[in-house]
Order: sequence, then structure tokens, then C-alpha cells
Amino acid sequence: MEYIIFGKTGLKVSRVGFGALPIQRTPLSRAIKILECAIDNGINFFDTARAYTDSEKKLGIAFKGKRNNVIIATKVHCKTKQEVLKLTEESLKNLKTDYVDILQLHNPEKLPDQNDDNSAYAGLKEAQKKGMTRFIGITAHKYTNAKKAINCTLYDVVQYPLSALSSKKEIKLVQLAKENKIGFIAMKPLCGGLLTDIEIAFSFLWQFENVVPIWGIQKVSELKKILKLAEKPPVFDNEMKIRVKKEKEILGPIFCRGCGYCLPCPAEIPIPMAARMKFLLRRAPYKKFLEPGWKEKMFRILECKNCGACILRCPYKLNTPKILQEMLNDYLVFAKSKGIKITGEKR
Ligand code: SF4
Ligand code: SF4
Repeated sequence: MEYIIFGKTGLKVSRVGFGALPIQRTPLSRAIKILECAIDNGINFFDTARAYTDSEKKLGIAFKGKRNNVIIATKVHCKTKQEVLKLTEESLKNLKTDYVDILQLHNPEKLPDQNDDNSAYAGLKEAQKKGMTRFIGITAHKYTNAKKAINCTLYDVVQYPLSALSSKKEIKLVQLAKENKIGFIAMKPLCGGLLTDIEIAFSFLWQFENVVPIWGIQKVSELKKILKLAEKPPVFDNEMKIRVKKEKEILGPIFCRGCGYCLPCPAEIPIPMAARMKFLLRRAPYKKFLEPGWKEKMFRILECKNCGACILRCPYKLNTPKILQEMLNDYLVFAKSKGIKITGEKR
């Protein structure tokens, strides 16, 4: 396993990071087996969140007696200093530790005011002062927030979605982070399930020596695939570039990145998922999307008010309401092909 010095934190982190969101869905015994296998193979960077139900607790159990061998990053979704401190205490209890290495604000709508003594930023600094965390960071799904967070240099680490399907503008954030000595955590290295060629995904991100991708892993077999690639990393050469181009062509011009910039939607349509449903059904395990909860969410598309807010906010200038309608039509056809009857599910 290769390691890098992670920006100004000085932490020596494995170039393969472990994204601990999916282990929420994994039985405890299997989760522990996966986490132990990751540590045994040199992975030392684990990213979780207070919001990922029992993920922190699973890490806490698996890391018993190994705290010094692992670097733990967690996140709290808060607006105030008090909330940050309260949730961080919960996280530490779950993780069975008295400190985390990186405490991140979990995707705030906008960057907190650094001059407000009661802001979430003040909470991070207070947590750091109290020794609850060594370093502070922020996660962003919005490009503008990520750029501001990197430019302001108040944070040691910034987490942002980055994959072979990212735009040139987004990829430039990597260089900006490098110049500012900010650690860059790449979330969604498979673009939320849209990128199915793991070799492309891995080689693309391996180019950037200041980036740690967090691979969402819920099976030992998935972990082994990643470890095998890390043993002999594939080069992102011209052939890889052609493969990325083909992937983009398959996804087409109406390809939604799932970034969420378009939210909130007054009809409460979960646009980042719904606008990619055609691909998620075919490129990710589809069954959960045909269950009642998702049926109801997809039928919210019929409640679209055509307010146009999503179009104005989409950085890719997508005609979101039109895409959503197409996704709903495809959803009905796909469900029928699987023998599943879909009727209008009400909220
Ligand atoms: S146009 Fe429709 S989908 Fe877009 S924000 Fe408005 S209600 Fe939501
Ligand atoms: S519609 Fe645009 S803004 Fe909304 S999630 Fe997709 S790419 Fe992002």
C-alpha cells in the first residue's frame, strides 16, 4: 500500500481510503471482517459520519486495540457550535475513542461564518481546542462551496465528489487544494454508481497524489478488487481516456452528476437520484428502487410545479424537469420488464 502526507495535516494516509457509508447495510460480523481485512492490507484511512446510522459504532468495535493504527475522519451535520460539540461527543462515544483525527462539517448549505462565535465553524475550532479532533474539515456537494472552502484555507481537509466523470472545472479543484496544502478527500469515486468500470475509476484518481478516494465498500470481494488495483495501479493513459469518453457517451448529454446543486425542489423531488434513475437501475442493484419508498419518490415527479428553479441552479444547464419526466417513463417500463406493477404511490 502506498501512503501520502495529507496536506497540512501531516498525517500519513493510505492512498486507498475506506468509505464507511455502505457498512451501515452490512451485518456487524461481516462489517468487522471487512474492516479488519482493510487494516491488515494497509488501509489506514476511514471516513464515516454521525449521520450514517451505526457505521461509527461498527468502526468503534472493529478498531478496539488498534486505535493508533487508524486515521478516523467523521462528520457532523450542524448549524451551531453547540450542535457540533454535542454530535461530536456522540461520535466519540460510538467510535470508542476520545478523539478523531479529522472532524468535518457535513455538507452545509453554505460555509459557516468564521467570525460568528456560535457558528458551526466555531464548534469545529472548539472541538479541536478540547482535543476532540486533531484537524478540521468540511464536505461539499456544491462546487462553489468546495472552491470557497479550499480558497479560504480555514480547513485542513475538504471532501468533494470526484471521479473520472467529473468536469474539467471540478478537476481543477485538485490543483487548487494542492497549492493551498489542503487534503482532498474524493467522495463518490464511482460517481454514485454511474461508473461501473472500477479500473477506469481507480486509475483516474490514482493520478492525483494529493487525493484520497474513499471507496464505499460493503463486501470483502469489493475490497479485494480495490486492493488488487492498489498493488499494481493501472496508468491513466490514452486508452483509459478513450474508455472514459465511451462511458460519457453512453450516459449521454443529459447526464446528471447527482451533485444536488439544483435543490431544494418545492415538490420535494429527490432530483439527484431521480434524474439518474435510468442509469442507477441498470448500473447499481435495482431492487431497492422498485420498493414502495422509491415508487412514491419517483411519482413526486408528477407534482413538478415547473418553477424552473432547478434549471437555473444546475451548473450543467440541464433541463431537469424534462429529464425527470423521461426518467419516470423509463422507470415504469423497467419495472414492467421486471414484472413489478407500479401504481401511483401517495405520500
Ligand atoms: S421545476 Fe419541478 S423539479 Fe425543478 S425545482 Fe421546480 S418543482 Fe422541482
Ligand atoms: S440536475 Fe444538475 S444540479 Fe441537479 S443533481 Fe443533476 S447535475 Fe446536479
